[in-house]
Amino acid sequence: MTPARATGIAVLSQGRAAVFEEPIGPAGIRVRERPRSEPVPGAVAVAIRAASINHLDLWMAHGAQRITSPRVIAADGAGVVEASQDQAWRPGDEVVIYPVVCCWECEWCRRGENVRCARFGVIGEHSDGTACELFHVDARNLFRKPQALSWTEAAAFPLTFLTAWRMLTSRARLKGGEKVLVVGAGGGVAVAAIRIAQHLGAHVYATSRSEAKRKRALEIGAEAAFDSADFSKPLREASGGGVDVVIESVGPATLNESMRSVVQSGRVVICGSTSGVKAEIAMPRLFWGQLDMLGSTMGNASEFEAVLEAIDKGLRPIVDRVYPLDDVQAALTRLDSAEQFGKVVLSVS
Ligand SMILES: [Zn+2]
Repeated sequence: MTPARATGIAVLSQGRAAVFEEPIGPAGIRVRERPRSEPVPGAVAVAIRAASINHLDLWMAHGAQRITSPRVIAADGAGVVEASQDQAWRPGDEVVIYPVVCCWECEWCRRGENVRCARFGVIGEHSDGTACELFHVDARNLFRKPQALSWTEAAAFPLTFLTAWRMLTSRARLKGGEKVLVVGAGGGVAVAAIRIAQHLGAHVYATSRSEAKRKRALEIGAEAAFDSADFSKPLREASGGGVDVVIESVGPATLNESMRSVVQSGRVVICGSTSGVKAEIAMPRLFWGQLDMLGSTMGNASEFEAVLEAIDKGLRPIVDRVYPLDDVQAALTRLDSAEQFGKVVLSVS
């Protein structure tokens, strides 16, 4: 094992790429030409067909992530292998990218616990990203593109479906027939959670501040949808006493209502905190309710494989809009407006 291998193969974005240059919002992300090279041993060069953006990219654009520029954005990508220095992949293979940065060699990575790797990170935040023409990445980050998905759909699911899958399965241990509340429907992970919870046989409820998004949540299978301001009472009435699991990504603005929405011994799973980083909670609700508060970020490669299997059985992402790579600023502005429902995708080639 060479030292270079032990620290992971460098991720490189090449050709035309959307680059974070200045923390001034979407205008600070510009399309630039980057030099091309051959992949190093163990790496594969993927000609990206589509990439998708996440709130992470927007926070970076606004300077909230303390990322050193320049940084090519985006965690999600799908494309065709152009050159391979690993026997697992050949030119022409259609692939999707596991959106995690890890070393693949430490004890945790070897045990399949990539999320516990000391080098764990997100592609496009802790390495170059997928919003580019040619993406060099460790061969172990690649998986076969699900045949049933278009390129746009294949780029739309990785980060959000991986995150929501881990929250509902490994963390919440959701069982078929249980009730799930997804707070803040509209965001990528929330929409993924609605889809996955349904796929796993759960009854799904949702909240959103937007009436249009509540309507969309109902259209994709939520049994009822509530305003995000004060939802626990109507939710408990609609669900017959509360839900078993809440999927939380909003944080301080909704956390207490989320805790009031679960049944005794319910689970509140948190993957984000878009309304602020510090929350004040009603402690008695936590201990009298025998609640489990569970944190979760991204997921392991095995969980990514489980998502791919679920897609083969009919699970589908939701694409909000598709923009050409050159219109990346418009795509980010779409996320900034918070009007999207599902994923904003960049079409690359
Ligand atoms: Zn590792």
